[in-house]
Amino acid sequence: MSVNDIKGHYIGGRFLDDGRGTENINPSDVSDVIGRYARGGPETVDAALEAANAALPAWSAVGVQKRFDVLDAVGTRIAQRSEELSVLLAREEGKPIGEARGEVLRASQLFKFFAGEAIRNAGELLDSTRPGLTVEMTHEPVGVVGIITPWNFPMAIPAWKIAPALAYGNTVVMKPADIAPGCSWELAFMLDEAGLPDGVFNLVMGPGREVGPALLNSGRVDAVTFTGSVGTGRQIARDAAANGVRVQCEMGGKNPLVVLGDANMDLAVEAAVNGAYYSTGQRCTASSRIIVTDDVHDTFVAALTARLLQLTVGGALDEGTIIGPVVSESQLEKNLEFIAEARIAGAEVVGGERLELEARGHYMSPTIVLDPRQEHAISRDEVFGPVASVIRAADYDEALALANDTEFGLSAGICTNSLSHAAHFKRNSRAGMVMVNAPTAGVDYHVSFGGRKGSSYGHREQGRAAREFYTLHKTAYVNANV
Ligand code: NAD
Repeated sequence: MSVNDIKGHYIGGRFLDDGRGTENINPSDVSDVIGRYARGGPETVDAALEAANAALPAWSAVGVQKRFDVLDAVGTRIAQRSEELSVLLAREEGKPIGEARGEVLRASQLFKFFAGEAIRNAGELLDSTRPGLTVEMTHEPVGVVGIITPWNFPMAIPAWKIAPALAYGNTVVMKPADIAPGCSWELAFMLDEAGLPDGVFNLVMGPGREVGPALLNSGRVDAVTFTGSVGTGRQIARDAAANGVRVQCEMGGKNPLVVLGDANMDLAVEAAVNGAYYSTGQRCTASSRIIVTDDVHDTFVAALTARLLQLTVGGALDEGTIIGPVVSESQLEKNLEFIAEARIAGAEVVGGERLELEARGHYMSPTIVLDPRQEHAISRDEVFGPVASVIRAADYDEALALANDTEFGLSAGICTNSLSHAAHFKRNSRAGMVMVNAPTAGVDYHVSFGGRKGSSYGHREQGRAAREFYTLHKTAYVNANV
């Protein structure tokens, strides 16, 4: 296949395109075109929904061994192809190759985990309150599931939605982010290779504003799971409610990492560096507000500033790169605007410059914004780049109040050696996930994932909790005394 051949939509078990394609460009080097991917619209969604609805009765009744076998085979295949897939991920998203390898491994683990969950889909059996009757509670497929994913984890997020959807007997129409469709296309290819029946999984690529509404307003989708920005998520939740479609939205974050005076300072600095700057800060769980008590504020800032100088910014395929490019020119401009506004508002900024490297890409230096005001955009809105604020707090109580003073609530961390402060923070942080002496980013696949407030809407993802979204409860009363 040459770079000019279009990688088609995957519908009803066939790869299809109509000659329209969008170039997938490497953000580390914009002269590198990874490939051309089909660009669909409402008619493509229509065909995919037709296929998914037609395949539903057979797949929901296929039995758990077949579902296990397909998902397990995909998990194995991802692991076998891990280096090639990691390179693709690094090229299309700009994630440094070491982190890309971790994400590909995670996708393999997710398929393996949900293969097991398919055969562990247990119900409950109880005696009825009426003598002689029993009550069975079981979980049935929800139906045709729409999956809409962002660009920042182009392999892991599709995996953590596709695998449970198929494990529990649903069929799928998926739309990946238009600027990074390559990993999803490879997942479609591997599902096909693993013997998934035609129409069970369908991939439609193209712009969200065209493909998304066609999916949500079709009347032929039973549930939609979305990960992406708050604005899009709220629109999707509204469309879903209007159409009576079950919906799950995982959205942005403005995650705090609290550092107290009694913390292990080396550990706290590393947690901040990892949480705020790895993956170029393009993680919903990134630590974008580092809240440090007065007694160690200056020491912490000096240590963090020194560490930033050691973080090599470069192309995602260079093994020595710690900070890759920002995903696109428009995202880079947005990041620089946030920083410029913070400067105008009086905050001191360390770093925060556009960088010109040998290859033409979207590079910037990792950035610390010192003591921004609480009401300013940099403190309230998700930046989604290698930018973190360091905010001074008088003591633990003020640090906790600042941590909770946000409309988001995805992840929150605390670095402390105090058991009582750690315990208090775990109880009183208004975030869905709390990390003690660990970065705010970095989660496991076998436990539930999700936030509160503006970060999340609907059921939790991943782990055993995923079943709640992808299944419907059924309660059956059985009278055997006949
Ligand atoms: P985005 O909202 O721009 O796009 C996400 C997806 O929605 C894309 O596939 C896009 O094409 C599609 N879309 C756009 N408009 C649509 C519409 N009107 N209807 C239906 N679909 C539409 O987000 P992004 O820029 O791709 O991703 C970055 C965002 O994702 C950040 O805000 C980040 O915090 C968030 N994110 C959240 C989590 C989480 O689990 N909470 C994880 C990763 C990323």
